[in-house]
This record gives sequence, C-alpha cells and structure tokens, in this order.
Amino acid sequence: MKILVTGGAGYIGSITSAELIRAGHEVIVIDNLYQGHRAAVPPEAVFIEADLADRKTLSEIFAAYPGIDGIMHFASYTLVGESMEKPFLYLRDNLTNAANLLEAAIAAGVRRFILSSTANLFDRPERIPIAEHERIVPGSPYGESKFFIERTLHWMARIYGMRYACLRYFNACGDTPDRGEDHDPETHLIPIVLQVALGQRPHVTIFGDDYPTRDGTCVRDYIHVLDLASAHILAMEALDRLGERRYNLGNGQGFTVREVIETARKVTGHPIPAVVGPRRPGDPAVLVASSDTIRAELGWQPQYPDLETIIASAWEWHRTHPYGYDDK
Ligand code: UDP
Repeated sequence: MKILVTGGAGYIGSITSAELIRAGHEVIVIDNLYQGHRAAVPPEAVFIEADLADRKTLSEIFAAYPGIDGIMHFASYTLVGESMEKPFLYLRDNLTNAANLLEAAIAAGVRRFILSSTANLFDRPERIPIAEHERIVPGSPYGESKFFIERTLHWMARIYGMRYACLRYFNACGDTPDRGEDHDPETHLIPIVLQVALGQRPHVTIFGDDYPTRDGTCVRDYIHVLDLASAHILAMEALDRLGERRYNLGNGQGFTVREVIETARKVTGHPIPAVVGPRRPGDPAVLVASSDTIRAELGWQPQYPDLETIIASAWEWHRTHPYGYDDK
C-alpha cells in the first residue's frame, strides 16, 4: 500500500514508517519538523516538509501523489501538561490540523485512516484494565482534542464511508537501534531516567509517592513502540473489513514509577538517584490497558512486553545517541 504518514519524523511516526517500509509498503512522510527530526525519516520514504495548517499545500500534496491508499496521522501536540498551560495548541491546532487533513484526504478519494489516540481519554476509569467500553472522561485538553478527532472520524465514516481505527496508546516507550525518543524538552519517565544514567541530570524526580498503589507511585502500562507500529500496520491492512474501530493498546501489566527506576538501575548499572517531589497535575493513579479487542480481532501480539527488554532497547539507543539526533 501507499501510506501517507503525518508526523513521520517524530518518535512513533518514524519507527512506524520504517516498519511499514520493511513490510513492503510505500511511505510518504509529511512533517513540519517542529518536534520531529529529518534524520529520523527512513531514507526510502518520500519526505515533504509541510504544516497541516496549510490547506493549499495539503491539496497539492494529494494531487502530486495520487493513489494514496491510507493515512496514519501521528502529527500532533502530545503533552498533557503543556495542554493545561496552552490549551489552544490542542483545542484549536490539533483539531484544525486533523480537519484540514481529512478534508483534503476525502477530496482526493482516500478512505483509510489510522489515528494516534491516547489513554488520556480515561481520566477516571472505573475498571482496570481499561477496555474500549470504559466511560470516556478526557483528562486534559490534549485528551479532549483526541476524543474530538475520534468523533470527527465517526462522522467521516457516516458521511463519506471513511474506514478508520483509533489506536489509544498507553505509555509508548522503547527504541530501535536506529531510531529513538528525542524530545526537547523531555518529559517522559524512561528517557529522563536514562538521562540521569548518562550523567545529563543529577536525579529523577518522582511525581508523588502518596497514590493508592503498591509503593505509592503511579502505575502505567509501558508498551514498546515496535508493538505500537505492528498494531498500526495490522489495523491498516485490515481496515476494509473492519470499518470503524477503537483499540486500547498496552501490555495489560502495570509498573510503578519506582519499579521503572529500579529496572533502569539494573539495565544501566547506574545508581540513578531519585527524589520525591509533589504530584504532577492531571496524573491518574493507575492506567493499565485491556487490549483484548485488538488481540482477538487482529491477532495482535506484543513482542516486547517485558519491562527490562523495553528499557534495555531504550538504553541501547540513548547510550549510542546521548544527544539524540543532535540536529536542533
Ligand atoms: N514521572 C515521574 N517523573 C518524571 C516523569 C514522569 O515521576 O520526571 C511519572 C509520571 O507522573 C507518570 C509516569 O512517570 O506517573 C509516566 O509519565 P510519562 O510522562 O512518561 O507518561 P504519561 O503517563 O504522562 O503519558
């Protein structure tokens, strides 16, 4: 298939692009390089530096590359905390950019779409692990923007026959030898912990140790980025028979912040000092996914569910790329 990947220079988008190419698909990447890295885009992919805010350029891209079979939409503002400080980046830009993309795609006859969605739809889950039928309570403008795009896709299906899947990632992590997580500023737990091991930070701050969990720190479901990539590819290949789908993506097993730090100590051999700080606003105590639906419907099976394997893969990339792509 010929797949348009927005945000294909970013962390999950670039690794999924590389996996698409490995599976024999053709990839066209659009990225504005605001967070992404040109060096992360696989050399076999077509790369177009463009912004989804620019509707004219989007129409030109679809005209210049006819026969696009499907879209994977990764390009987005993605931080819960930032969305509480700059809500309009999310409630305006994320929404408008997705609408621009969908409008141009529909005009060009594209009818397959995979959305990067989020566990932030489930701010107050009543049942753990969290299944797709759990009540949706977005935890932030970020989660709300993804929920709105999921709803937009529903109407695109009703009105234009769009076939789509919304993939709600829990905690994406892990790297491949060639591509990895490189955000500026970095806010995610595993890369921060590895920056401590590299001597780039004196310690990691644990955001609260008074949660109702086994050691008082938050529990998250860490899922390897390659397992997310395989879910995208399986979903895209099956969309014609699926129609409309929403899948929660995780390993179904939760680890506390302290367990992540302890595992990173074991993997890196570094003491990784940790200090306890206040809670981070907006953090639910426990987020663990039930991925039974995608396992049953698509035969998806995570290949890297083990936390030590995940952190070792991230350590391999961070150790060999201590300054990330070093292009900013
Ligand atoms: N966390 C932490 N210290 C940090 C970064 C994160 O204690 O410097 C915690 C955070 O409160 C959450 C977990 O680690 O419970 C995972 O956070 P991350 O930002 O990686 O992902 P999120 O769960 O927000 O998607």
